[in-house]
Amino acid sequence: MAEFLLRESNGIWYGFFPGLEKLGFTHAFTCRLHGNSDLTAGGLNMALHVGDAQQKVVQNRKALADALSIDAERITTCEQIHGSNIVVVTPEKIGSGAFCFSDTIAGTDALITKEKAVPLMLFFADCVPVIFADPITGAVGAAHAGWRGSVAGIAAKTVRKMVEEFGCAPENLLAAIGPSIGPCCYEVDGAVYEQAKEFDACFSPASPGHWQLNLWKMNKMQLLQEGLKPENITCADICTADNKELFFSYRAEAGKTGRLAAVICGK
Ligand SMILES: [Zn+2]
Repeated sequence: MAEFLLRESNGIWYGFFPGLEKLGFTHAFTCRLHGNSDLTAGGLNMALHVGDAQQKVVQNRKALADALSIDAERITTCEQIHGSNIVVVTPEKIGSGAFCFSDTIAGTDALITKEKAVPLMLFFADCVPVIFADPITGAVGAAHAGWRGSVAGIAAKTVRKMVEEFGCAPENLLAAIGPSIGPCCYEVDGAVYEQAKEFDACFSPASPGHWQLNLWKMNKMQLLQEGLKPENITCADICTADNKELFFSYRAEAGKTGRLAAVICGK
C-alpha cells in the first residue's frame, strides 16, 4: 500500500498515511481545494494569521472537522515562529486558537499531548510538517520544521519531550513527514549553509554559492538519531512547490498564499 494517499470526504481533500490511520490515529494534511477563502479564490486556507477573513478560515476548519469527525472546538494551535519551543497540551490548553488567533499558544513550534481526541493543528506552506504518534501510550505530537526549526532540532526535541513527559519509548514512536518543499525546489544560499553545516549531508551543490537543501532528510536524520526505527519513519515525498495547484507553496507563490493544516489527534 502506498505510504501516503489523498482522499475526499464531505468535499474536503486531504492527504493521510494509511499505516497511521490503521492504528487509530486520526490525522490529515489538507489540500488547498474547495474552501471558502478569498485569500486564494475558493481556497481552503486554514491559518488565521495570513490576512484571510476570520469567519472564512473558521468555516474551513469546521468543514475539515466534519470531514474527519473531530471536534472543531478542541482544535489546538500555536503561533509558529520558526523556533524550537514545544508545549505540552494539557486540558486547560485544549481549544487554544481554534477560532481566534488571539488565544493561540504563543511562541511555539511544536505541540504534544496525551489527552484523547485533541486535534493538534499546525500550519504550513513549504515548511515541513512532522507528526508523531505512540501506539503504546496514545500520545501524539506535531512539529513545524522549516529550515530554522530543522537546524534548531525541533524534530529531535519533540521526540525527547514525548519521552520525558509521557514515557514514550523512541523505538515505538511513529513519525510522518507531510507535503512540503522538496530538495528539487529548495535552493538556499551560503547564509543558510553556514548555519546548518552539521547537516552537510543534506546539501547538494547548485549554482556557485547556492545549494539544494533536503529538509526531509535533515528531519529523518534527527529522528533516527533519537532512536526511531527506520521503518517507523514515513515521508509523503510530495513537493509543495511542484504541486502548487494542490497545496499552498510560499516559495512558488512569492509569499502570497494560504496555509495547509497538518492535524493529528491522540487516541
Ligand atoms: Zn520540487
